Amino acid sequence: MDARVIVIGTGAGGAVAAATLAAEWGAGVVILEAGRHMKASDLTQRGKDLLPVLYAGGGTQGTEDGSIALVQGRAVGGSTLVNDALCFRPPPELTDRWRAYGVDVSDLAPYADEVEARLSVTQIPKEMTSKANYLIGLGAARLGWAGERLRHNSVGCVQCGFRHLGCAYDAKQSMNLTYIPDAIARGATLHPETEAHHLTRSGGAWEVVAVDGRVFRAPIVVVCAGVVQTPTLLLRSGIDAGTGLQVHLQAVSWGDHDEPVDGHNGIPMSYGVLEHADVYGHRGAGYLIEGCTWLPEAFGAYVPLQGEAFDEALRRYRFLAGAVMLLRSTSRGQITLGPGGRAKIDLPLDDNDRARTAGFYQQVTALHLASGARRVLVGHRAAGWVTAPPTALDVEAGRQLLYSAHLFGGANRGTHTDAVGRVPGQPGLWVLDGSAVPEAVGVNPQVTIAALAMQGARRILAG
Ligand SMILES: Cc1cc2nc3c(=O)[nH]c(=O)nc-3n(C[C@H](O)[C@H](O)[C@H](O)COP(=O)(O)OP(=O)(O)OC[C@H]3O[C@@H](n4cnc5c(N)ncnc54)[C@H](O)[C@@H]3O)c2cc1C
Repeated sequence: MDARVIVIGTGAGGAVAAATLAAEWGAGVVILEAGRHMKASDLTQRGKDLLPVLYAGGGTQGTEDGSIALVQGRAVGGSTLVNDALCFRPPPELTDRWRAYGVDVSDLAPYADEVEARLSVTQIPKEMTSKANYLIGLGAARLGWAGERLRHNSVGCVQCGFRHLGCAYDAKQSMNLTYIPDAIARGATLHPETEAHHLTRSGGAWEVVAVDGRVFRAPIVVVCAGVVQTPTLLLRSGIDAGTGLQVHLQAVSWGDHDEPVDGHNGIPMSYGVLEHADVYGHRGAGYLIEGCTWLPEAFGAYVPLQGEAFDEALRRYRFLAGAVMLLRSTSRGQITLGPGGRAKIDLPLDDNDRARTAGFYQQVTALHLASGARRVLVGHRAAGWVTAPPTALDVEAGRQLLYSAHLFGGANRGTHTDAVGRVPGQPGLWVLDGSAVPEAVGVNPQVTIAALAMQGARRILAG
């Protein structure tokens, strides 16, 4: 099939790139997506059915040593289908920080404005703050810490609590409901369940060879398959990629309260503590703390206890208020090709990340206790329940339960691509997703990734 441009992936990067390109090139835009095109009626809120379908690797993706789970969506809409819908402006600090990589994002604000308008971003109303998130805000206020109710891209949210399984009410303004329909309305063609395997160049154009053998041909290809799969796809195509992987390192904790918290009732994440952040003018160690609630399946997987103690923690589910760390990590990992061309992901933590994670366990324990919790469960195998901030927790592979749903790099701007996303020496090949981000953003990144994709797509249109 011949097209003017092929966009691979439909997440925060791919959907915005496709819609932006379709505004001028209409039917010349072809979109490939490995995952399924889910409708609201398919989103049954049943984890056992949906986790294997909506998540990369069926939700089991992680680093090669098993120490960090890496969570990404796999469906039309990408990770935005299953995300928490929190929206942050690109932090102004990025302009200076990314200059070190030769990447100029001083012009990003208008693109972010446009993205936020299309995604209907608003502040989460006070009455929609779940009790779990309210308690995190209460603890922060009592400690005198900076924090705020967060913003989200949801219209008419019914607060069912199932954001991680996609929105069954079409309220969350994820890419499958916004930029992908925009692209299609402008003439683009979407091919769901079409996984690109590799790219080749022939006769002055790119051929994208799908896993099922179909071949799509165009002079321009925009790769937006997400942080793990974009570099893997490039590597399978013989193109340099894979270094520079970063994450927001995420660690969990729960405060146990005497009264039911029932965190599953309501929006899972709505309050953010900025006291320890190093963005928006804050000068902390470099992590956000966000209130959170997890579905029982995911909660059970992150309880650092066994046997009777594990059972007892599960029985406290209704009484727990969760808080999660989002650390702007400095560790750099690498994606290489494993057996059969699959991704092999290595991300050893550096001393800085280990020290700051240990610091988080202390600070978050103080936060839960200030909110009225009588004990705190931190996601570290050596800690279990604590009633005072733990001081000597070693942070090393396998000891704590770490994950990341915010991945960056692998096809970084300024390293694997030029400063605007073009792959050097590969005419017409662009990367416009999270893998092109040169350094961890410091806040939930979907708006930043979408704004960068729009900026890149406009440059493609400008020739
Ligand atoms: C559970 C969860 C909660 C999150 N919460 C928030 C939040 O509240 N706020 C926020 O700002 N960010 C959040 N994020 C992060 C945010 O959603 C991602 O950073 C962002 O969507 C990444 O955009 P992307 O385009 O790089 O990749 P993705 O959105 O992951 O999209 C990549 C797409 O490419 C497809 N693909 C992969 N390989 C191929 C292939 N070979 N061929 C064709 N298609 C392919 C995938 O199936 C996927 O659909 C969350 C993420 C998760 C997983």
